[in-house]
Amino acid sequence: MATCPPSATEKIDVFWHDGMLNHDTGNGVFDTGMDPGFLDVLDKHPENPDRIKNMVSILKRGPISRYISWHLGRPALIPELLSFHTPDYINELQEADREGGKVFCFGTFLKPGSWDASLLAAGSTLSAMKHILDGHGKLAYALVRPPGHHAQPTQADGYCFLNNAGLAVQLALDSGCEKVAVIDIDVHYGNGTAEGFYRSSKVLTISLHMNHGSFGPSHPQNGSVDQIGEGEGFGYNLNVPLPNGTGNTGYLNAVKELVVPSVQKFEPDMMVLVVGQDSSAFDPNGRQCLTMDGYREIGRIVRSLATRHSGGRLLIVQEGGYHVTYSAYCLHATLEGVLDIPVPLLSDPIAYYPEDEAFSVKVIESIKSYQEDNIPFLKTA
Ligand SMILES: [Zn+2]
Repeated sequence: MATCPPSATEKIDVFWHDGMLNHDTGNGVFDTGMDPGFLDVLDKHPENPDRIKNMVSILKRGPISRYISWHLGRPALIPELLSFHTPDYINELQEADREGGKVFCFGTFLKPGSWDASLLAAGSTLSAMKHILDGHGKLAYALVRPPGHHAQPTQADGYCFLNNAGLAVQLALDSGCEKVAVIDIDVHYGNGTAEGFYRSSKVLTISLHMNHGSFGPSHPQNGSVDQIGEGEGFGYNLNVPLPNGTGNTGYLNAVKELVVPSVQKFEPDMMVLVVGQDSSAFDPNGRQCLTMDGYREIGRIVRSLATRHSGGRLLIVQEGGYHVTYSAYCLHATLEGVLDIPVPLLSDPIAYYPEDEAFSVKVIESIKSYQEDNIPFLKTA
C-alpha cells in the first residue's frame, strides 16, 4: 500500500473557533444534569469545554504544532443545515434557543449559547471540507463541539444537535464527489451519519463501536452487524460492534480485515475520518482500551487509504472523547499517524492496560464472514 512520507511543508489545516466553548453543559451526576443533593462534588458534564481546550492547546503548544495550520471557523447558515436535516427539526432547535433552552434527550442539553456553538461546529466543519474541495489543502481537521455523529436528520441525540460530518459529506457530494467513505472510530455508533446516508450508495459509512445497542427513542438504531442500509444504500453501511476491552491489536485487526478491504472495493474519491477519543483505555464513556499507539496506527492506515483512493484528500471530524487529558494525547497521536511522522513526538503518559485480543479477533472473523455473505459490493471482483 502506498504511504505518504511527511514533507517539511506538509501540514494539517485545523478549523476552530473559540465560540464553541460557550456551549455550557453544566454539572451533575456525570451526564445527567441532576444534583441529588447528597454529593459534595458534582462532575462537569463529560462533554465540556475543558476537553476541547486541551485539544486546542496540545496542538498549539505541543511538539506537533509545527505541522498545524490554524483557520478561523465560522457559523453555518440555516439553509446549509437543510442539506442533512429537516426544516421541522431545525425550527425546533431555533425555537428551543429562543425559549432559553431545552432538554432534547438524555444528557443532551441545549442552553443559552449552545445553538451559536452548534452553528460554529457545523460551519467550521463545512469550511474544512470546502478547503479540501477547493484544492487549498488535502488534510483538514474540524476541531469542533458540540459533537455531531448521533444527530439524525430529524432529531438530536447523545450530546449532538447538528451532524457536522454528515453536512460535510453532503457538501462533498453536492460539489461533485461521487463516492465518500466515512470511517467512524468514536466508541459509540455513528447512528446519525449512518441514518442520513442509509439509502445512498454514494456514501460508505463504516462505524467501529462498542456493542451498546439502542439508547432509546433518540437513538433507535442499534449498530448491529445486520443494519447494512436500505434501497440503493443496501450494503453501504458497515457496522463493526466490538467487544469491551478490544484494545489496539483488536482494533488494528478490525481495521485491516474489515475497513481496508471495503474501502479498497468502494474506491472513494473523498474520505472522512470521524474521530472520538472515547474509544481510549481511560475514557469515562467507553471501555474499548485504545491507547496512543492504536490511534496513531489507525491514523496512518486511514491516511494511506486516502493517498491510494482519494488523491490524499482526508477530512477529520472531532466527535467524543471525555478524559480531559488523555483525549488530547490521543488526538495528538491520531494526527501523528495521519501525517505519517515516523517517530512519535510524545510518549504515552498512561498506557498500562494489558491486552487480550483473542475474543475480539473471533468477533471480527464472524463479522467478516457475515459481510462476505451479505454485502453485494464486497462480492464483486
Ligand atoms: Zn462517543
